[in-house]
Amino acid sequence: MTASATAGTPPLLVYIGGSGRSGSTLLDLLLGNHSRIQSLGEFDFFDRYAHGIAQHFCTCGVPVPQCPFWLNVQDTMRETGQSDAPTLATSHATFAPLSYRSPRKFVEAFALISGSRTLYSLASAFVRDHLLAARESMRWYDAVRHATGKPIIVDSSKGAARFKTLYLLDPLNTRMIFLLRDGRAVANSLMKLSHTKGKPLTIEQAARTWKRHVSNALWVRLSVPTRSMLTVRYEELCTSAEPVLRAICDFIGVGFEPAMLELNKNVAHIVGGNPMRMRRDESAIALDERWRQELTTENLNVFDRIAGKLNRKLGYF
Ligand SMILES: [Zn+2]
Repeated sequence: MTASATAGTPPLLVYIGGSGRSGSTLLDLLLGNHSRIQSLGEFDFFDRYAHGIAQHFCTCGVPVPQCPFWLNVQDTMRETGQSDAPTLATSHATFAPLSYRSPRKFVEAFALISGSRTLYSLASAFVRDHLLAARESMRWYDAVRHATGKPIIVDSSKGAARFKTLYLLDPLNTRMIFLLRDGRAVANSLMKLSHTKGKPLTIEQAARTWKRHVSNALWVRLSVPTRSMLTVRYEELCTSAEPVLRAICDFIGVGFEPAMLELNKNVAHIVGGNPMRMRRDESAIALDERWRQELTTENLNVFDRIAGKLNRKLGYF
């Protein structure tokens, strides 16, 4: 790590966890405006983007394999002996799914609640790929620190098991922002996204998806110290951005900077996430509550039957 990367601020990984469609791309962009923070987006699928398997654009506007920022990070990987690839490429996957199908469901639950690396390693036969993906991600985080001089990395991959694996590899320097949003808004957004992908989700499936991801994050919250996890609500981020961002700055140990309030997409190099990251004309922080008009009474009743109890427990009525 460069001297400038360590001056004043220790290296840190800030992981945005919770359910997809909860505003993580917005939070990622705002945090990335801080002079000590580099946001990477949903880094878990980075190897697919880097290898060009999935045609994917960096937020700066060019395909990931051609992005100057990521190519510079790749140069750093080579210079520090972490990679000998001639082009942007990862030597291992940065993502390894833990299937929800039995018997892996049991293994995932174990991974989420286990409190120590020793316990975790007992399940190593099952989580080995996950550990390799986490270690590869750590190497990339370090290369980004070297290349940018910024000590704090934001990864908004969201999966709870991925966070837990990263956390157990480096508990002192890993934090999670548990980003919450009304489950009805998430379910509505998931359904709309699924239609654009040609694989429509029902309200039942969308409600269960939200419930599963939030429940997983709650399991993880039980197993890490309170200093390692901060809960942030999407709705408050949109309506009271400055106090929420100040609280996040306190949590990660940096001073608040006014630039964090600007939705500046021109200087970002985040991957994955909400397509809003590419829309240059949307530069205001706006609360999206379209679910209130778009979900039918029947949709709301189905959601309530599946996930209403959890939603109310989290403060959404
Ligand atoms: Zn870029």
